[in-house]
Amino acid sequence: KKTLLKVENLRKYYPIKGGVLSRVVGQVKAVDDISFHVLEGETLGLVGESGCGKTTTGKTILRLVKHTEGAVTYREQNIFKFTSKQMKEYRKDVQIIFQDPYGSLNPRQTVGDMLREIIRYHNLASGPEVEERIESLMEMVGLNRYHIGRYPHEFSGGQRQRVGIARALCLEPRMIVCDEPVSALDVSIQSQILNLLKKLQGELNLTYLFIAHDLSVVKHISDRVGVMYLGKMAELTETDKLFENPLHPYTKALLKAIPVADVDHTPSKAVLKGDVPSPSNPPSGCVFHTRCPECMEICSEKVPVMTEANPGHFVYCHLYE
Ligand code: SF4
Repeated sequence: KKTLLKVENLRKYYPIKGGVLSRVVGQVKAVDDISFHVLEGETLGLVGESGCGKTTTGKTILRLVKHTEGAVTYREQNIFKFTSKQMKEYRKDVQIIFQDPYGSLNPRQTVGDMLREIIRYHNLASGPEVEERIESLMEMVGLNRYHIGRYPHEFSGGQRQRVGIARALCLEPRMIVCDEPVSALDVSIQSQILNLLKKLQGELNLTYLFIAHDLSVVKHISDRVGVMYLGKMAELTETDKLFENPLHPYTKALLKAIPVADVDHTPSKAVLKGDVPSPSNPPSGCVFHTRCPECMEICSEKVPVMTEANPGHFVYCHLYE
């Protein structure tokens, strides 16, 4: 498989302003020097607790927020150097599905009007083809022609997410950043949406960057998974390897916290002591050292380097250097 998107040493720092003069008094290191690539047709899951930088990573890739440093290459071209024409193409090629489609849908616009507007704006079809296209989009996402004239509030949560997916598909993208697309849905609906995304990926050869805070959600949809902690990529490898042989102490703790169908197993959040430190004042050395059960002396002093512990299995921890 070819690399579709490559992220190199990406950083996104937000300034913290304070005082009467609103001077910059510090910075939040939302994403701090992360690198990974996404292959064409694969799903790369990105997981971590809130504030770990996964959503900022997605938004920076989409150029919805401005990066601080580093590069993002899409089809071998640096997206931060795109001309406005290239940017327009990129905005078509790389779409987003939000956690809350309701917040991103115009309440006064029917689904049909929304899709019509996008199709016309981008000159994707004309005349009767417009309506044909809308009907086929609705079918693709498991809705039908009777839903075309409906308003967002007339849909259930799962149906609204289907509308969000139809909107993303409308522009025939190659890649979709799925930002927690099932987090707000009931568990039974979650699997329906995940299955739909999988089916569409097979049919349309889509590439997904799938952002979630829940490892059990990414398990079923991702080919590879990256685990993020406080702006850093803690571990990155194929999904099976991550679940069978997690290496980073943080991933191990996350996996222990997943409930399993076993009476003797009690999911435990207590494996991790304390709360996630503030990204405006991250710990020295390894950012995880204040909570790590395997912390060593070196951990608070020296920043680890991303190491390929096994082929294709990257880990950011002194234990594997
Ligand atoms: Fe734990 Fe040290 Fe590894 Fe960080 S570098 S995860 S503190 S063992």
